[in-house]
Amino acid sequence: MADIRAGLAAVRERVDAACAAAGRAPDEVGLLLATKTQPAARIAEAVAAGARLIGENRVQELAEKDAELTALADGRPFERHFIGHLQSNKVNQVLRYVSCVQSVDGVELAGRLQRRLEALDRTLDVLVQVNTSGEQSKFGVAAADAVAVVGEVARRDRLRVRGLMTVGLQSPDEAAVRASYRALRELRDRAADAMGTGLPVLSMGMSGDLEAAVAEGATLVRIGSAVFGARPRTA
Ligand SMILES: *Cc1c(COP(=O)(O)O)cnc(C)c1O
Repeated sequence: MADIRAGLAAVRERVDAACAAAGRAPDEVGLLLATKTQPAARIAEAVAAGARLIGENRVQELAEKDAELTALADGRPFERHFIGHLQSNKVNQVLRYVSCVQSVDGVELAGRLQRRLEALDRTLDVLVQVNTSGEQSKFGVAAADAVAVVGEVARRDRLRVRGLMTVGLQSPDEAAVRASYRALRELRDRAADAMGTGLPVLSMGMSGDLEAAVAEGATLVRIGSAVFGARPRTA
């Protein structure tokens, strides 16, 4: 079984080295643990080892693990973000668990979140997910629409748009992967210009390519297998 504490330390070292190579301060880049398919006990181990931010892809997993994770964390603080495709009929449920939805991929979903947040009288941090690779299988708004969608989402007063998220190109071609991350940064810069506000968060980079993402300005890398080991193929 992969040693979670050692895995976390190794990832942090990789992030720090990538920051040094890019002339960035290590505290500019945070770590989100992608915990899909991991049982609550393993996630709690990571929290005990210092992980503070957890990302889940499915509302059902959030719900199933919630009570056990909360109990096992034993008062240690942790925060959860939603990083998967959010179906509109799961909006009410997801809000019970997360402080941020990173995967807002359209104006309609933003509208549904806004209405539910109005009813709850609260706000929510969100990121707009962009499909920077153009792959059909990927969720996220098209790059060509991203600036307009960020503007539309930001008009919903219960949503605080903090930045952009992407699942980068899956390819052995490092230059192409890096180009997809650069594209997200450039879209962020244009959207921030258009709105006249900062969009500080760039959530990009995973176990296999975090260095490229940090080089292109990632502020949050989302790491699963480098800490927990390979996932079963069904994931
Ligand atoms: C699984 C997942 C990750 C982490 O992937 P690894 O390659 O295991 O590090 C990051 N982001 C999203 C959206 C994911 O679903």
